[in-house]
Amino acid sequence: MTDRRTELAENLARVEDRISAACAKAGRNRDDVTLIVVTKTYPASDVRILSELGIRHVAENRDQDAAPKAAACSDLPLTWHFVGQLQTNKVRSVASYADIVQSVDRVKLVTALSKEAVRAGRELDCLIQVALDAESGDAGRAGGSQRGDRGGVGPDGVAALADAVAAAEGLRLGGLMTVAPLAGQYAGRPRAAFDRLAEIASGLRAGHPAAKMVSAGMSSDLEDAVAAGATHVRVGTAVLGVRPRLG
Ligand SMILES: *Cc1c(COP(=O)(O)O)cnc(C)c1O
Repeated sequence: MTDRRTELAENLARVEDRISAACAKAGRNRDDVTLIVVTKTYPASDVRILSELGIRHVAENRDQDAAPKAAACSDLPLTWHFVGQLQTNKVRSVASYADIVQSVDRVKLVTALSKEAVRAGRELDCLIQVALDAESGDAGRAGGSQRGDRGGVGPDGVAALADAVAAAEGLRLGGLMTVAPLAGQYAGRPRAAFDRLAEIASGLRAGHPAAKMVSAGMSSDLEDAVAAGATHVRVGTAVLGVRPRLG
């Protein structure tokens, strides 16, 4: 084994232990939580090693990096998640390789994704990204669809956006995604944030029973996400190492 392969295998084993322990503590089956490895800023060679080590879900947040990486790894049995803020002029490219877009946060994006999915003859799973620092009552980002630096729609805007995705040709509503907020009432309280996401997800399933995915939790807070019922955790640093630059 190469050094990098050994390093990734050891890191994966540690993350696997953490997920298993969190599932056991929460009384959940390990199979009910999917590990998505966030490979942003790391090379296609790492993605290839991860695939050999059994990883089936990878995520990227920038089309410029993701598109060539996905092309270089097109022979691998991977599901590609797009988790970054998405500009409409990148949608055609993203729709060509992404299987799941987790960062849907406005109707304009739904329209563009639908058009490009149909054009590519693909079905895209979409998650609505919820900005929990845009709760009504929180100063600053309150007001439903207002967007901050990290994207996402406020809880008040989830239902309308979900209906738009569900009605759009070429798109399937998969569920919800969030990133633990840095501001507002949930800042520094990832468990409370993920509990709130679970509550919104449960409301969503009342109208859209197939929208079962709840994507929450990263390297630092995956235990909180598992405890709150997340179905998918997105882990970068704990598997690949501290990123060389912001990504
Ligand atoms: C980078 C990123 C992650 C992974 O974060 P780590 O702290 O490196 O585990 C998860 N979700 C999103 C949306 C990201 O951009």
